[in-house]
Amino acid sequence: MILVVNAGSSSIKVALFQTGPDGALTQHLAGQVSGIGGPLAHLDLGTDDKDIAAPDHDTALAAILSSLAAQGVALSNLTAAAHRVVHGGTTLVAPCRVTDDVIAGIEAATPLAPLHNPNNLAAIRALQSLAPDLAQYASFGTAFHATNPDVATTYAIPAEDRAMGIRRYGFHGLSYAWIVTQFGADLPKRLLALHLGSGASLCAIKNGRSVATSMGYSPLDGLTMGTRSGAIDGMAVLRMAEIHGPDEAARRLNKDSGLKGLGGANDMRLLLAADTDKANFAVDHFCYWAARHAGSAVVAMGGLDAVAFTGGIGENSAKIRDRIMAHLAFLGDVPVHVVKAQEERQIALDALTLGAV
Ligand code: ADP
Repeated sequence: MILVVNAGSSSIKVALFQTGPDGALTQHLAGQVSGIGGPLAHLDLGTDDKDIAAPDHDTALAAILSSLAAQGVALSNLTAAAHRVVHGGTTLVAPCRVTDDVIAGIEAATPLAPLHNPNNLAAIRALQSLAPDLAQYASFGTAFHATNPDVATTYAIPAEDRAMGIRRYGFHGLSYAWIVTQFGADLPKRLLALHLGSGASLCAIKNGRSVATSMGYSPLDGLTMGTRSGAIDGMAVLRMAEIHGPDEAARRLNKDSGLKGLGGANDMRLLLAADTDKANFAVDHFCYWAARHAGSAVVAMGGLDAVAFTGGIGENSAKIRDRIMAHLAFLGDVPVHVVKAQEERQIALDALTLGAV
């Protein structure tokens, strides 16, 4: 059985997959520990639902392993752990088995994702000490976009700044990889994929490979999101940093902007239900900018054969899908697909492909 681990700053989400004799993956159970580092953490996994003490990722993972054992899945039943790692930097551009070099690579990419990669590393290290013989794998949120051409990933900034790793990376790669997996042999040649959740991005997928994506150096860029601004002029960012200081400017752009900044709520369902001028403007902004960035992605692919929506909004809101597609009507009548996001399954599949059983 493969344990998929998604370690955030205060939570660790896990999903357990079993491989059948035909190699098919079945999700056995899923759950999480939330509130890590707080006064009281909470474990919700399978039939277990209880408060626990989890001051750090080590104790949270130990609690997950003992809960699994109590539910009949001993450590010895696990064949692998497969981690979602947010940023692979420039070197980790494909899923891989975790080695010392891979750990060093994740560490090297930490300045690019200071809020995320340390948690992923903490989970990898915790499992190394709790289960030294367990094979560990990593799938990277950025890796799917490693096929973008240089012209798409390069910011036109001085060479010394480019040498500091300031370039476009792109995110939501596991979600896009899953879309490609789902289409299988029926994958359209030029597919516009939109991941619309609380974070939102889109990706131009040509012949199964990402050729352009709307997120850039960080997941702030591109579409209007739940609480992130989406694309904004660098000078406007600097002005906000001047007014508020850099940390507060970053917080405002990441946490108080987007649908929340415009409409007062980051939840698309609330905005659609509210139907006030403010809420409607936020929804208009979301759809308009999704379509504006879609136009850019279509240019990167040299045309469009199909569109796929995924993520909480993309999967559930026909209204939003229709409104974005209405902006794109000039491109002709293209098939529209809805794909349920299953990043954990993609991560398990990656591990399986690399030899996990
Ligand atoms: P996350 O990125 O945190 O995983 P999700 O992919 O679950 O987020 O997406 C969350 C978003 O999906 C929220 O804005 C939520 O309002 C929206 N959403 C979920 N169901 C619907 C629905 N039926 N109609 C419109 N929006 C929806």
